[in-house]
Amino acid sequence: MNVIEASGLRYAYPDGTLAIDGVDVTIEAGERVALVGPNGAGKSTLLQVLGGLVEPDSGTVRYFEETEDADAVRDRLSVATQDPSDYLFNPTVEEDLAYGPGQLSLPRSEIDRRVDRIAERLDLADLRSKPPFRLSGGEKRRAALASALTVEPDVLLLDEPVSNVDAANRAAIVELLSELSAAGTTLVISTPETELVPRVADRVVLLDGDGIAADGPTREVMTDA
Ligand code: ADP
Ligand code: ADP
Repeated sequence: MNVIEASGLRYAYPDGTLAIDGVDVTIEAGERVALVGPNGAGKSTLLQVLGGLVEPDSGTVRYFEETEDADAVRDRLSVATQDPSDYLFNPTVEEDLAYGPGQLSLPRSEIDRRVDRIAERLDLADLRSKPPFRLSGGEKRRAALASALTVEPDVLLLDEPVSNVDAANRAAIVELLSELSAAGTTLVISTPETELVPRVADRVVLLDGDGIAADGPTREVMTDA
């Protein structure tokens, strides 16, 4: 089953910068896909368009082989953008982590269970009652990732999830992503760090300015790149 089917995507920022043009990409359930390319290649823009956060100037994005738009699939798809403050606007970290599942009308006990588990896994337990704006850069990144994970989505789109994150937490995030993938979650992860790619993705979409330069199995694309 195709979880995301995008075709003919084009997006230019209001100042005229063309970020992506002529992009076609289909992502199947259970895939682990890395969006790779240098700074400015269009990774963030593509990730936000695929996640339904940015409307393309032209082209279409279809989810779960249905005709519904991004809002209709919001509970099955989570996006963590590069700016953690997009997600962190509640008074405390734990309220941010509870926000997403709170929108799904889950029982309070289930929301608490998810928040406890993810806070523990991402080393946020001691930061739960802090206001998010008082966190360090790496802590904010982990809190933003945590608030995407408590939704327990079928599809997770993450923009540079380990940038700014220390080595121990990086390893914890990579392990958690492997577990989610093994449990069937589809992962789309953008990263400028090529050494991370083989650990988080089986398939690489290489961006080169405004379009796709290569799309294939990680070992093929990464040896050619
Ligand atoms: P990447 O994530 O690969 O670094 P981006 O998608 O952020 O690339 O950027 C793609 C292109 O769009 C770049 O040329 C970048 O300078 C430009 N860009 C990104 N955000 C904006 C913005 N808000 N306004 C204008 N141009 C932007
Ligand atoms: P919707 O669910 O229709 O997208 P909401 O008003 O529920 O709209 O949420 C506004 C936006 O903030 C959504 O895109 C939601 O995914 C995003 N969001 C993600 N994480 C959080 C969070 N921790 N706190 C608040 N908003 C969040």
